[in-house]
Amino acid sequence: MSNALSFRIPGDLNSLTFNPCCLYDDYLPFHPAYFEKERKKFIETTNFLPGCSKCELKEKTHGLSQRTIFNSRIPEMDNSSIWKLEIVLDTTCNAACIQCGILQSSLWRKQVYGEEHIQPKSQIDDKLERLKESIDFNTVKDFHFWGGEPLVTDTHLKILREISDPSDVDLEYSTNGSVFPDKETWEIWSKFKRVKINFSLDGMYDQFYYMRWPLRWEKVSKNLEKFRDEGRPNFRYHVNFCATPLNILYIPELGEWLDTNFSISSNGTKVNYNFIRSEGMVDIACTPMSLREEVWKLLGETHDVSNILKEVPVIDPARMIEHLEHWDPIRKLNWRETFDRSACHFKD
Ligand code: SF4
Repeated sequence: MSNALSFRIPGDLNSLTFNPCCLYDDYLPFHPAYFEKERKKFIETTNFLPGCSKCELKEKTHGLSQRTIFNSRIPEMDNSSIWKLEIVLDTTCNAACIQCGILQSSLWRKQVYGEEHIQPKSQIDDKLERLKESIDFNTVKDFHFWGGEPLVTDTHLKILREISDPSDVDLEYSTNGSVFPDKETWEIWSKFKRVKINFSLDGMYDQFYYMRWPLRWEKVSKNLEKFRDEGRPNFRYHVNFCATPLNILYIPELGEWLDTNFSISSNGTKVNYNFIRSEGMVDIACTPMSLREEVWKLLGETHDVSNILKEVPVIDPARMIEHLEHWDPIRKLNWRETFDRSACHFKD
């Protein structure tokens, strides 16, 4: 992944960090000289770096990983240029998804600390200026924005407005689908080569509300239909399903809804689905063996989620249950009722 880089400010810490990609285990502090030294390592390595544990595990179990996918997509190029740049400077978010946390979401910070922790604009502008001193945005061929929710602020536009030839550049967003882009975003997107929009959807109706609290399925599904009907020819849609011990038995229901309502973009291209594993407090590894067996029977042995469940060890779910049962009364929710078919695999 020599020509990919990821920059983020974790949480609202006002510290700029970098690494080779979003799956890398460590956040390295950004300092121009240190950045140059580490980047040389990313470029020259012929093996896994210590932070590449997720790709290493994937390749051991399935032969494929984000590393192999990027390597096949990103062309050989002059090492001083960056092909793919992930930008995660702004974690302002209108959601506090149960599988997320304070490093990614300002609403989670508000939930935990009891007050708004939004990154000041000056902090983001300052970091963008520092980045520009080390990276010429006009050499980048593929930008990926996530957050937070990248469409609730204009941080992404501050970069896009500077691209002199957008027709040769791809964009990628990871969004919770709750915000339909404003006119400026819509117009600017239409000038780029391709705009890939990854919608994070891992349930419907009350299950969606539980997973992506306090977002509402009714609003998000309407936005999806609008994207489907009004999208420009250069837009491509993807759905990212975050597999957790709660929602994995309900994958076929969401699949049916998507097949009926959101399988083809307005430009005729197919909407792709992608399954990712949850980590942190609602780690997919908390799935008990009896629930894994039910999933393997339901989805088949070769489904991506079945494979994820084969890869990860079984860990004690006590911490996860404590987390759910701490937040449920505050959010007036009940995970055992909302995900009853999964919940019966966990002891009371
Ligand atoms: S929308 Fe994304 S950043 Fe926001 S809380 Fe959910 S997972 Fe985290």
